[in-house]
Amino acid sequence: MYLIIEQHKQKLLVFGFILIGLIVLIFSNFFLTERFAETTKTQSQLRAVRQANAIIGELKRSQIVPFLLSQDPMIISGLLTDKYKKISERLASFASEIGLSELRLFDSGGNLVASSKVTFTKKVVMIDPHQLKSDNESTIFKIEQQNKESFKFSYLRPIVDRGKSIGYIVADVNLTQFEERWRSPFEAVLIADANGQVVISTEQRWKGKNISEALLLKEPKTALNRAFHLAGEYLELNTLNNFLDGQAVMRVDVSIPYNSWELSSFSSYKSVRERVNAALAIEIMIFSIIVALLFYGLNRRAQSQTIALKKESDELRALNLLLKNEVSIRKKVEQNLEVVEQSLIQSQKLAVLGEMSAAVSHELNQPLAAMKTYLAAAKLLFDRRRTQEALSSLQRIDDLIERMSVITKQLKSHARKVSDSMVKIDLREVVANSIAIMELNLKQDLITIQLNLGKTEVMVLGDPIRLEQVLINLIRNSLDAVKDEEKPVIVITLLIQENAILRISDNGNGIEDFESLFEPFYTTKDAGDGLGLGLSISSSIITDYGGRLTARNSEVKGAIFEIELPLLRDDNFSILTKDN
Ligand code: ADP
Repeated sequence: MYLIIEQHKQKLLVFGFILIGLIVLIFSNFFLTERFAETTKTQSQLRAVRQANAIIGELKRSQIVPFLLSQDPMIISGLLTDKYKKISERLASFASEIGLSELRLFDSGGNLVASSKVTFTKKVVMIDPHQLKSDNESTIFKIEQQNKESFKFSYLRPIVDRGKSIGYIVADVNLTQFEERWRSPFEAVLIADANGQVVISTEQRWKGKNISEALLLKEPKTALNRAFHLAGEYLELNTLNNFLDGQAVMRVDVSIPYNSWELSSFSSYKSVRERVNAALAIEIMIFSIIVALLFYGLNRRAQSQTIALKKESDELRALNLLLKNEVSIRKKVEQNLEVVEQSLIQSQKLAVLGEMSAAVSHELNQPLAAMKTYLAAAKLLFDRRRTQEALSSLQRIDDLIERMSVITKQLKSHARKVSDSMVKIDLREVVANSIAIMELNLKQDLITIQLNLGKTEVMVLGDPIRLEQVLINLIRNSLDAVKDEEKPVIVITLLIQENAILRISDNGNGIEDFESLFEPFYTTKDAGDGLGLGLSISSSIITDYGGRLTARNSEVKGAIFEIELPLLRDDNFSILTKDN
């Protein structure tokens, strides 16, 4: 039972822990996603500002170059004299120093006359020189779409000598370098010009399109792409779909204070998800370790409990065995004791009998001697024909024989074994029979006998003859005790208490000596009237039936004797009936 409760508790503990783990996971997922998304957004914003600044920096840095070169005396003299030999070298060193794509010099006719690149084709009309006339003294920024996805960003400035345009210098700004620099699997960046046309982008497909148009573009799914899609996330992230699918991307717009350009950056939430997942994985790992440790601990505990229980039950079993052995030994001893007791009782009786025999032979010798005398007297009286006297002598002899037979009867019944004649008997019957036997004596002595026997039967186990013998003996003693009383009364009461109690009380003089009362041959009566065996035999008979015989004096007058015997109740009764 204890083990079952323990197991239940352990299950609850593990279940509770897993539940707590799940709740923590759900909460930390929510919290971390929020947190990381926020950080990612801030980071994207910062990055976008940095990217815009980089573009502005590059444009500003390059803007000064055409102005400086337009003032360059070497270039001016070159254009005036039509000698460009060293100018190309000068342009090349400028371009590499400042980080421009290309520096080109055109004459007033629009012919390319020098370039920072070693190989260049002459006579490429870059711009209509007449266009420049209106803004003679300023630098113009120009975006030129070379093909569908390629743009060129240039600064253009006329070179003026004495108020006359003698040529112009063109600086190509290297903005495409940023496309390469910003390309990442988690981010796409685009810059649109004042018209909303994408001019710079990490996604080549967007370039040349209007922003809204570009964002609607879908990556055509080729078989190869699909295969890669299945093969790994990395490639999937590189596709446009992922960047723009619903909530999966985060858009940040930053305006570039330059020609009203606009920079838009698209960051993937995937990085957020990945970071959250990493944190969750660590949490799950920690929980798993704790749960494993918990299981280990519980298992250890259960094991030690089982061992302890096993030990306990082994001990109990051993103890049980020991007890069984002891019980069987005790049973044997009890059986032996019973046998010993029986034989002891028997030998005690025999011992008493021995004692009695001595007394009895003494007791019998007296009447025998008297009988002999009476017999001789009767013989003599018959001889003298005094028949009447002779008959009275014979009567005396008869009395003596009667007395002797009583003594022998008592001894005979005492020598019998207890269990020989045990039957169920109603004590009321015992009383009735005893009174019937004593009827003559009672009538003779004019004694009042009060019987309080009740209406229910009072069943006990015993030999009816012997119980009657006890009762007769007690009644006779009472008769002797009250014979000198004026109003002799004997009361016989039957009570049912824990045991059956048969009480015989009289209004005689009471008992003189309690100590010797039950001893054999104790008598206060004259020789010939009492043997002193009655109470001793009665007591031993009652003891044989598991009861006891007690005596006390009444507070008013007389003696009270009580026979107490085990009551035969219904349950004992049925057992007995079965045995019988
Ligand atoms: P017995 O009757 O032959 O003397 P018992 O053993 O029956 O032998 O009685 C022993 C003695 O106990 C009696 O002699 C008497 O002194 C005393 N005794 C017995 N019954 C009574 C009684 N009802 N009242 C007073 N004394 C009694």
